[in-house]
Amino acid sequence: MRKNILAGNWKMNCDLSQTQGLITDLKTGLVKDFNCELMIAPSHPFLYNAFNSTSDTLIEVVAQNVCEAQNGAYTGEISVDMLDSIGIKTVIIGHSERRDTYGETNELLAAKTKTALGKGMRVIFCCGEHLEQRKAGNYFETVTGQIEKGLFDLTAKQMEQVVVAYEPVWAIGTGETASPEQAQEMHAHLRSFLETKFGKETANNTSILYGGSVKPSNASEIFAKPDVDGGLVGGASLDAQSFLDIANAF
Ligand code: PEP
Repeated sequence: MRKNILAGNWKMNCDLSQTQGLITDLKTGLVKDFNCELMIAPSHPFLYNAFNSTSDTLIEVVAQNVCEAQNGAYTGEISVDMLDSIGIKTVIIGHSERRDTYGETNELLAAKTKTALGKGMRVIFCCGEHLEQRKAGNYFETVTGQIEKGLFDLTAKQMEQVVVAYEPVWAIGTGETASPEQAQEMHAHLRSFLETKFGKETANNTSILYGGSVKPSNASEIFAKPDVDGGLVGGASLDAQSFLDIANAF
């Protein structure tokens, strides 16, 4: 069975005291069970602290990135062993900011994914088209191309540990959201595409999250779509109340 997931991507925001403050606010607001798994992705320096501070809650702390190599001369990088040693079990791979600002290619992202899965971690694999590709009408090919190059070397068993996040780049941090219909159209397309490689059962069991300016006011109608299994949220996850209000939308 696929799961509803709400993941907050804090990006390069929040120093130590702000990270602790946001976690305290989230914990204060966790007064009921939500119909979704809750994840937060603080910056790397604060993962251990965040992991410890949330260990008495159902919030999972996840990483925003990981190195494709196991260890060695990779200055500035963070390995799966390091993440695993502080309790991190899930990593976001292929966010559009990693692809566009840091030049991460589909090939590199495929390698990162295999390394993370090899360590027994779960991967949130991001994909999404730019505005030009949407306007030119080749957004399906763009996104399925990212999925094919990033994930199609995996086995169906490995794919069980992958969550897909569809994030149209034109909707990230812009305030512009894909309509629920646009999200559903792409998610259904992605699910059928996954089926061609991994089979119906795996495709049906894969959680596909939507990301791009999700907020409390639009979350319910997006999450109501049958192939949308949750959200990857940036800006609105930096406010505990909005994040919890979005979680309430399931
Ligand atoms: C993101 O960066 O993954 C994201 C979806 O950001 P925002 O919610 O701010 O658009």
